[in-house]
Amino acid sequence: MLLNFSVASFGNLKVSPEQTAINAVMKAMRLCEHVQTEMVPTDAIQKTDRSPVTVADFGSQALICKAIGDAFPDDTIVAEESAQALKENASLSERVTDYVNRFCEDTVSDETVCEWIDRGSGEVGPSFWTLDPIDGTKGFLRRDQYAVALAYIVNGTVQLGVLGCPNLPHRLNDGDAEHGCLFVAARGEGTRLYTKTGDFIEQVHVSEATHRFAESVESTHGDSDAHGNIANALGITESPVRMDSQTKYGIVSRGEASLYIRLPNPASPDYRECIWDHAAGLIVVEEAGGTVTDANGAPLNFLTGKRMLENLGIVATNGKLHQHVLKALANRNN
Ligand code: AMP
Ligand code: MG
Repeated sequence: MLLNFSVASFGNLKVSPEQTAINAVMKAMRLCEHVQTEMVPTDAIQKTDRSPVTVADFGSQALICKAIGDAFPDDTIVAEESAQALKENASLSERVTDYVNRFCEDTVSDETVCEWIDRGSGEVGPSFWTLDPIDGTKGFLRRDQYAVALAYIVNGTVQLGVLGCPNLPHRLNDGDAEHGCLFVAARGEGTRLYTKTGDFIEQVHVSEATHRFAESVESTHGDSDAHGNIANALGITESPVRMDSQTKYGIVSRGEASLYIRLPNPASPDYRECIWDHAAGLIVVEEAGGTVTDANGAPLNFLTGKRMLENLGIVATNGKLHQHVLKALANRNN
């Protein structure tokens, strides 16, 4: 599929890749919200790496891979989950199918849902979609922040990012603000913010007036002490915004934080980031005027497989701050 040139046909109706992605992510966000409201303890299990996965992760991936696969059957999707666990757990599989069926015109079987999920088992190549059906599953389980993150990558460059953040308020620190944000960024066209039901809110831009940084809630996903030291070196005195998932990229893109920093945790210095944890967020920040690199200032390389083997850590800024952050990081290493 060539972005912006090719469209999917449904009878006389033509649907662009961007609209297909937006519709799919909005549907997946709704499924996640249904699960979050009704969740029972058996709806979450542990993966072999001990990280959690829920019926919402599987359901979200099924809906999005179905939509992309139906519209663009030749496209490759590299997604986080596989249907293997559902094939070994009939009751979990039924739960997922029940939720998926709420969002489908025809009632489908467990097998069909597993087939849709496994449309996401593609490999990184010249062009592909990458999907995190729920980024920040731990945040989802805490009823806090999480994101549905879908990106399209051509020759290593992210061309499209759709980042759904069902629990993110339209404005941070505004108790009255409505919740549910959808960030859409297309290369060369800026970053747009919509409500979770698809109403346009505004074009978003990074800000040079903000002096606040963002980091993970999970202390094992970064190096909080080092983040604090870098912030001190930059003269950032406000306490950090701690958030799960790529919502951190979202708040940098709309000027509510000037920096999102993620340095390897000392207990897992060789951890390599997954492509689906950063591709959508990267274009959301870049198209809003910001800059994203790894902690050494290298561009993120999305072509080394599911993990970014050539990158260590993440630095996403409003652009202006970027070289200062890299300099502070280099000084720290000397
Ligand atoms: P966040 O919500 O920003 O903390 O990011 C969630 C993501 O962190 C998950 O999707 C995991 O892929 C990723 N993750 C898991 N373990 C680590 C680790 N040791 N260091 C960095 N990221 C990790
Ligand atoms: Mg993730």
